[in-house]
Amino acid sequence: MTVLDVERPLERGDPQSPGANGQFDLLEVPLLGGFLRWRWSRTFLQLPVLLLSLLMIAHAFFGPQLAPKNLAALLTWVHFRGLVVLVLLVGGNFFCMACPFMLPRELARRFVKPSWRWPRILRNKWPSIICLVGVLFAYELFDLWGSPWWTGALIVGYFAAAFAIDTAFERASFCKYVCPVGQFNFLSATMSPLEVKVRQPDVCHECTTKDCIRGRHDVNAPCGDQTIILSELPIIQRGCELALFQPRKVGNLDCTFCLDCVYACPHDNIGIIARLPGEELAGTGTRSGIGNLDKNAGWTVLTAVFVFGALLNAFAMTSPVYVLEQEISRWTGLRVEWPILGMLFMFGLIIEPAILLGTAAAVTQYWTHSKVTMWGIINRFARSLIPLGFGIWLAHYGFHFFTGALTIIPVTQNACRMAFGLDLLGKPMWQMGGLPESVVYPMELGFLGLGLLGSLLVCWRIASQFNSQAPTKAFFPWSVVIITLFVSACWILTQPMDMRGTFLGG
Ligand code: SF4
Ligand code: SF4
Repeated sequence: MTVLDVERPLERGDPQSPGANGQFDLLEVPLLGGFLRWRWSRTFLQLPVLLLSLLMIAHAFFGPQLAPKNLAALLTWVHFRGLVVLVLLVGGNFFCMACPFMLPRELARRFVKPSWRWPRILRNKWPSIICLVGVLFAYELFDLWGSPWWTGALIVGYFAAAFAIDTAFERASFCKYVCPVGQFNFLSATMSPLEVKVRQPDVCHECTTKDCIRGRHDVNAPCGDQTIILSELPIIQRGCELALFQPRKVGNLDCTFCLDCVYACPHDNIGIIARLPGEELAGTGTRSGIGNLDKNAGWTVLTAVFVFGALLNAFAMTSPVYVLEQEISRWTGLRVEWPILGMLFMFGLIIEPAILLGTAAAVTQYWTHSKVTMWGIINRFARSLIPLGFGIWLAHYGFHFFTGALTIIPVTQNACRMAFGLDLLGKPMWQMGGLPESVVYPMELGFLGLGLLGSLLVCWRIASQFNSQAPTKAFFPWSVVIITLFVSACWILTQPMDMRGTFLGG
């Protein structure tokens, strides 16, 4: 074990410096690494996104109400979603890092200290599951992609909710327990190649202050003649507000890439380090701030919503869904949309996962003579579906993004014309769109193929741990589920698409 002088902060280039262990570390990259290690880098990234959000809100309420001509609708449903999944694929959870919803609460916390702790009964993923399903449902029911006004209202509501919750409750309660976008990013980030993690575990072993979780206190603060109690000194850099203790943190779940731990660690022992995407999904045991995923029903249900919601959301933008809705209306005599949509959601997010996951768990239990309960088996294997789920979101959001990426140019030109009465950015070039569908389709298939491969590999790892004597008996039922979902996703891709939010959709 390396013997360290824990009182002396390590310098870069120090023989004991964690940067010299051969792993790729984004914080070691010239310029970019220096920028990210700068204490205000997150605020620097959040500010332009906040300004853009304010612009989108203004355009949502006062701009044209035709979605393809409106910045709020176009940026939210075409560009933001597409860029989020692409950045998660090639980097990590950098969108949570640049999240603008956190800036107002940071400002408010300078004047008001939150005094409540998030209720114990809600310290789980159930509030965010309800929010995620609610957003998916509202998206379909109110045709949010086609309504700038409702999109603007959603953004304002999001700011209000984040502000209210985080000014009333301590720590990052909104991010950890409520935010549906955050949960989507956390699950997707399990497939990212970068992770905020400890560089050298030995350094943590010797560390006495654990500032990465407790926060860094101002040891120079005046304290009169009293005995100094470290925890009572003012905090000059907070530790992880999501309760992830670096030495025991595993993977990207619940990590917002806020880098508070990086700034707090006195030994410069945390980096943004390369790792194998998806590796964390097969891991067992207790994770800091999360617990044991094998015993956590909340994470499993969230995973099911993420994976089956990807199929449902993609299916809902195809033409056959309208035929299906009309058929349901004819059979049931219902004339309003919400109960029909409710039935589709009930089938897609409850009945279908229950049948597929329940059957796979029952077969696994029977073939392997396992004493683990069915629910325990589902908890363990459901994680193997995440790579495919992410592949489906990638294919879907990537499709909208790549086919409509350039539409932002004429919409911005038009917004400028409306705001100033002049063509300051030139006449709107409405003919601009994006890549043709014939080019994007193979990319979609590639994303799905990658997801399939990732899911099968993770499933094999889990099956090997579950039954090392005969892993194929545990692998087979789950691989059937994975392949069934993959074939369903491929079928959806071949259906005529409703080009939401772009001019291609008319
Ligand atoms: S990461 Fe945390 S435990 Fe490890 S050295 Fe830094 S402050 Fe100490
Ligand atoms: S402080 Fe917590 S949430 Fe922020 S980057 Fe570090 S581990 Fe992730």
